[in-house]
Amino acid sequence: QQYVYFFGGGMAQGRADMNNLLGGKGANIAEMVNLGLPVPPGFTLTTELCNEFNKRNREYPKSLEKEVEVNLRRLEELAKKKFGDPVDPLLVSVRSGARASMPGMMETVLNVGLTEETIPGMIAKTQNPRFVYDAYRRLIAMYSDVVMEKAEGIEPEDGDSIRNQLEHMLEAVKKKNGYVNDTELSEDDLKELCAAYKVKVKEVLGAEFPDDPMKQLWGAIGAVFLSWNGKRALAYRRIENLPDDWGTAVNVQAMVFGNTGDKSATGVAFTRNPATGDNNLYGEWLINAQGEDVVAGIRTPYAINKLAKTDANKDLPTLEEAMPKLYQDLMDIREKLETHYRDMQDLEFTIEDNVLYMLQTRVGKRNGPAAIKMAVDMAKSGLIDKDTALKRVKPEQVEELLHPMVDPEAEKLAEKLGKGLPAGPGGAIGKIVLTADKAMELGEQGRRVILVREETSPEDVHGMKPAQAILTSKGGMTSHAALVARGWGKCCIVGCSAMEIDMKAKTVTFGDKVLKEGDWITMNGTKGVIYEGQLDLVEVDPLSHKEYRTLMTWADKVRTLKIRTNADTPEDAAAAVAFGAQGIGLTRTEHMFFGDRIWAMREMIMAEDIEGRKAALRKLLPMQRQDFTGIFKAMGSRPVTIRLLDPPLHEFLPHDDEAQKEMASLLNTTEKRIAAKAESLTEFNPMLGHRGCRLGTIFPEITAMQARAIFEAAADCWAEDIKVKPEVMVPLVGTVGEFENQKAIIDQQAAKVMDEKGITFKYMVGTMIEIPRACLIADQIAQQAEFFSFGTNDLTQMTFGYSRDDAGTFLPHYLERKILAHDPFQSVDQTGVGELMKIGTERGRTTRPKLKIGICGEHGGDPKSVWFCDSIGLDYVSCSPYRVPIARLAAAHAAL
Ligand code: ADP
Ligand code: MG
Ligand code: MG
Repeated sequence: QQYVYFFGGGMAQGRADMNNLLGGKGANIAEMVNLGLPVPPGFTLTTELCNEFNKRNREYPKSLEKEVEVNLRRLEELAKKKFGDPVDPLLVSVRSGARASMPGMMETVLNVGLTEETIPGMIAKTQNPRFVYDAYRRLIAMYSDVVMEKAEGIEPEDGDSIRNQLEHMLEAVKKKNGYVNDTELSEDDLKELCAAYKVKVKEVLGAEFPDDPMKQLWGAIGAVFLSWNGKRALAYRRIENLPDDWGTAVNVQAMVFGNTGDKSATGVAFTRNPATGDNNLYGEWLINAQGEDVVAGIRTPYAINKLAKTDANKDLPTLEEAMPKLYQDLMDIREKLETHYRDMQDLEFTIEDNVLYMLQTRVGKRNGPAAIKMAVDMAKSGLIDKDTALKRVKPEQVEELLHPMVDPEAEKLAEKLGKGLPAGPGGAIGKIVLTADKAMELGEQGRRVILVREETSPEDVHGMKPAQAILTSKGGMTSHAALVARGWGKCCIVGCSAMEIDMKAKTVTFGDKVLKEGDWITMNGTKGVIYEGQLDLVEVDPLSHKEYRTLMTWADKVRTLKIRTNADTPEDAAAAVAFGAQGIGLTRTEHMFFGDRIWAMREMIMAEDIEGRKAALRKLLPMQRQDFTGIFKAMGSRPVTIRLLDPPLHEFLPHDDEAQKEMASLLNTTEKRIAAKAESLTEFNPMLGHRGCRLGTIFPEITAMQARAIFEAAADCWAEDIKVKPEVMVPLVGTVGEFENQKAIIDQQAAKVMDEKGITFKYMVGTMIEIPRACLIADQIAQQAEFFSFGTNDLTQMTFGYSRDDAGTFLPHYLERKILAHDPFQSVDQTGVGELMKIGTERGRTTRPKLKIGICGEHGGDPKSVWFCDSIGLDYVSCSPYRVPIARLAAAHAAL
């Protein structure tokens, strides 16, 4: 079995599609080598080896030592240097790399191979002692942290991590000498620091920093493998839902140095702008720097070209200006990689003494608006086809275009607290919190918080997710906070350098303005501006995004599933039509009985007899008719499904004394009667009680009134030549008899209205399928019903036997312990509830082959559920207006 794959000298044993075995980084490094790009040579140890190592309790297979030996010799030949050689030593990096990128989660150790013995050789060869000691102090810092403390589990003596303690020593030297940047440290400063570092490591960790190159190499390899099961990596995988059994690969690679002087540099770049999708190279770089200096937020990174400039680096040199020839090389590589991968790439590069080296490429993360623009641009330029363009955009990414923004009018008047880099678009309002733990705690209670930090690290991810937005004082557009927020489409501002955080006093200071933890702020992530207090947020108009409109027309061409919306008002209906809804799948009529109308409704409930009820219903009729007319007009000739009254009547009665008193005086009755009525309507299991069609069966006059209101509105529309086709939907049918009973009442009203108005109109009567029994007898129900609509909220509730309103006590635990893989109220449970839907669909269509079937539960806007509905042959899904665009794209994906 081969555990090690070589790359270098224009040829690699791996390829991009060997991602699973070599990890994303290793596979793409191999691909770049095969493409003839300048990549330092090296070899990849496989993910399988990682899994074996961790399974065997940190032991390697016997054959491994020999295999590494052979590959190391081959690397030495190519590099024309020997590992551990005192005259001209080869140094290597030891880099992690799993299948999917896990930004900053796992470890990398640079400059491996520097020892007391190899240092003089390095100095003689480079004539640059400052550089050598800079590399050495980085090695000691990384190694003691990653290998000794984290992997070997050595506890630091006084609790503070070795990384922090060494960092403090560095800061102290800078402070003493009045330096601002690391680059100002002299050779002597660094040499002394290295010696002091080693003493500190011994003192804090009780073990020597190893002075043997092979010990360093194996130590680093083992540490990377172990970091797969590190706390941060585990937490990240849980949030991102990545499996634990992938393992990470390790890449051992010849070092190139971006820190040898001002002809050297290091940087990161995207082949297109990941925030806007603009077709320009975008990125950041630093002269005389190594490794993660650019992303670590230690120095303000420079812009790679004019277009990438921000306020923070507008006066600093660009790579294009400082090293035009190398910038051109990078542009050529950009072209090559995009043509090859046919997607936007995220690159890491290093320049050593005016020579460019590529260290990494991968498909770059982007936010929603950028994803849409890139996909459409690439399809238009012929780089990809339209189907690929559609698949490139995740349905959730469309949602980002629907995000609220800070009201521009309010913004003009508001007081600016500060400005940073616009790392994640949209607006957000929240209370300041200063720790990830607190953000998680409050965020999970549904409170709106904004996580404010100097910078974020992978340890903060659990608090970043539930926060409304993230704000940092350090770091650039490629910092951890920016990357993570971009992936989630979250509002984010980074590098707000005017902001100072005092963790002890729990304050955040902008100039002379002092805010406390818990104070409200508003962020405009599109512009990077922070405001005090709560500004209004306004909804955005996705239709102003040109490529979005194009993508949606492509989606509409390929999808076969129709998209309707759930809307109870003409305004919602109109909004949904603007988002592309093709009809209404659910109008909940009970929402129309609140507000002023509640009194007529209560009067109806309190009525002693049918005459009393009818009198109250006569008051409701014109109001209902008006509602329906409004909705019909907003929808034009599109189909509209209206559900008859569904909730139990007690929901309309007041339950406390005060309110009952008020009702008694208004309805001219006694409190006692009201209390008695409320009492009599109280049920043990209201969701399984007197509701849905059971109401209309016991009180047929309610059904009659609602049907009449619908048909009178329809007749009025037809009279104005708006040919609406109302679909009257009977809720909660479990037996054929119930449906027959209700249908007769509805048909009778339709006939009466047509007769009275002298107008014939079309309509349909159908039912919601939301009781498991209805799925099973769907063939019988379909003899009468002209359409079905799966009410998956109730169907899920009744199939699982989970009360939707009470599931909060146990469902989160079920999800946490993986007793349930996902929340069945969010995404259709395909194996159970889905099976009932399949049965209902099949049986319904055995009776009525063209039976129109849709879904109107919350699941209608969930991409996975949309896919499922398409796969079982439903005609449409219905979702809330703001999810219509998401459902359109999800339906296109389902069809592809
Ligand atoms: P991550 O997965 O966290 O990005 P990497 O393995 O890419 O970790 O390493 C981080 C950084 O270290 C790289 O961006 C690069 O700047 C530097 N680095 C890694 N390998 C080398 C190398 N062989 N020569 C020079 N720098 C390197
Ligand atoms: Mg890393
Ligand atoms: Mg990297």
